[in-house]
Amino acid sequence: TTRQLIVSEKLAAIGEITAGVAHEINNPLAVIQGNLDVVRDDLGARAKPLSTEFSLIQEQIQAIHVLVSKLLRFARPEEYADDDTGTDPGQVIHDTLPLVQHILSKSEIRIELNLRSAGQIALNGTELQQVLVNLMVNAIQAMPDGGTLTLGTERVEESEIGQAMRIIVRDTGHGMPPEIVNRIFDPFFTTKRSLGTGLGLSISRKIVAQAGGRISAESVEGRGTTFEILLPLVPNAV
Ligand code: ADP
Repeated sequence: TTRQLIVSEKLAAIGEITAGVAHEINNPLAVIQGNLDVVRDDLGARAKPLSTEFSLIQEQIQAIHVLVSKLLRFARPEEYADDDTGTDPGQVIHDTLPLVQHILSKSEIRIELNLRSAGQIALNGTELQQVLVNLMVNAIQAMPDGGTLTLGTERVEESEIGQAMRIIVRDTGHGMPPEIVNRIFDPFFTTKRSLGTGLGLSISRKIVAQAGGRISAESVEGRGTTFEILLPLVPNAV
């Protein structure tokens, strides 16, 4: 009907504006981030008394960055569709660690990398990074008294989606009882009260599913949680 047409045109227009604004925020944000790094490097040892301030700025930059990625994703999902040039998941993990470094530095969390990836996956790096940030932040939050965060990649010849890349994000945190695990991928499900949005895992699942992959979680209360992502490999890519 005409009414539906008008509504969908309006939504498209809102999407365009949102995407435009998000892009316009990204550029100055990159300049702020770059200069912050320069200032901190330049100060060297003298940056130390300001470490709280630096972390605070870094945290807020990251918060804007995450918000902008979410906005872009909802405004222009087609731009984030799979590309077939392929992504090296090990590389994305290396690129993602600095993004959570500021939360890590406050805690006694050890990182264990177990990257045995040979192969490229059919999901662009930005999207994989968004998924990894969600999982890593959750893992870190589940280990307030410290622990080990393990990130692993390996190629599997046989899985429920056929030949695939398996990405593992494992923590030794507080874990969850089964009735919680069953609900964690539901939109807006959170146990973090006002601190959580409950969107991280539902968005992650959507991203992975759009690329033809699967994401699942296993958890043991008091011991920790393991997330497994299976993603299709790009055929014939090195
Ligand atoms: P949010 O982190 O905003 O609550 P998520 O969708 O990312 O939203 O997670 C939903 C819920 O799943 C969390 O509130 C938490 O209860 C649970 N959860 C997710 N990851 C973990 C984890 N690594 N360990 C324990 N609980 C987790």
